[in-house]
Amino acid sequence: MVYIDDRFTWFEGQGLWQHIPESDWQDWSWQLKNRLTTIEQLERYLTLTPEEKAGCLFAKEKLALAITPYFFNLIDRTDPHCPIRKQVIPRSDEMVVSSGEMLDSLGEDEHSPVPGLVHRYPDRVLFLVTDRCAAYCRYCTRSRLVSNAQDYNFHPEYEQALRYIEAHSEVRDVLLSGGDPLLLSDKKLDHLLGRLRAIKHVEFIRIGSRVPVFLPQRITPELAEIFKKHGPIWMSLHINHPKEATQELKVACERLSFAGVPLGNQSVLLKGINDDAEVMQALVHRLLRMRVRPYYIYQMDLITGGAHFKVDVRKGIEIIRALRGHTTGYAVPQYVIDAPGGGGKVPINPDYVQAITDDEVIFKNFESKLFRYPLKASPNKAHAGLVLPAEMHL
Ligand SMILES: *Cc1c(COP(=O)(O)O)cnc(C)c1O
Ligand code: SF4
Repeated sequence: MVYIDDRFTWFEGQGLWQHIPESDWQDWSWQLKNRLTTIEQLERYLTLTPEEKAGCLFAKEKLALAITPYFFNLIDRTDPHCPIRKQVIPRSDEMVVSSGEMLDSLGEDEHSPVPGLVHRYPDRVLFLVTDRCAAYCRYCTRSRLVSNAQDYNFHPEYEQALRYIEAHSEVRDVLLSGGDPLLLSDKKLDHLLGRLRAIKHVEFIRIGSRVPVFLPQRITPELAEIFKKHGPIWMSLHINHPKEATQELKVACERLSFAGVPLGNQSVLLKGINDDAEVMQALVHRLLRMRVRPYYIYQMDLITGGAHFKVDVRKGIEIIRALRGHTTGYAVPQYVIDAPGGGGKVPINPDYVQAITDDEVIFKNFESKLFRYPLKASPNKAHAGLVLPAEMHL
């Protein structure tokens, strides 16, 4: 495979916002206040296609349009197919509802004992703490509630949720998500993490966040201190394309890492964005260089208006096959489908095992060579190791 990491530059700087004082640029509330949220603001910098314009108009009813100036800089403004652009600028395809698509494709609402608390697996809960994000991903699984464009009126019930966790001693793992938990104030996060830490049976706390990608300025030394204080806090980032792996993100990851936050990454497999083995390989290599361990690649959930992002599962398997054995084991994420309706995450793997009996297992390696591993001890007959063509009995 060709090594293409260097095709993607490590962007750094203020780009289109050179005229802004650096102190503003580095201030996360400035970035939030100056998000691009209208057609007029976008068209100041690029020409929208008719499909994008229609998509932007529809966003009010589906999922808000908002892009931080920092993230907007990563768009190649001359290329309508730019992988960054497609993630955050709506297209008219969002209006197309295809068969099998659902508002709540993972059945989260019916698995919620308290509004915003999803208890699907025996030992862990998903705690949705806000419906706001720094920018909005057009393929968002929770677009039914995130940004409140669909009048879902999500209100997390912190007290009720905390009481539920306190009362359920089987919950040893709490995952904070949303929306994006890192949009809460330092004070609120400090309080929430403190409350969770005080629950004896909660031994593992993690945060799912895309803020380091959209708004790396939010990862301040003060925030890092909060994680250090309540640590270990684990974090799952959401990075889809090597272009997102900028110097700014690297600095944010280092700050988190040095505060003792182990970092993982979840990517969503997206058509025309990262459904390519070379792009994924460049991404996972960059992640390792930023101290981030690739964790999951998700098959797109069946959300309404998401069909234009959907990738064939065989392509996803091919990507995993192209990674496993061909690069660092730490760089290979687990490909999963979150079972529609709420069955949980299920691993989807290339088939390495060719046959398995009481006597032996026959399997292929990353180069498609066949091997045998004997399961029964039979001193004279067993030949472990490479299966020679003459011996093959498949
Ligand atoms: C993804 C998810 C989790 C966490 O799953 P892991 O495989 O442990 O990362 C927990 N609860 C819900 C509802 C989830 O969707
Ligand atoms: S950051 Fe996460 S929750 Fe927010 S819009 Fe993107 S995918 Fe949805």
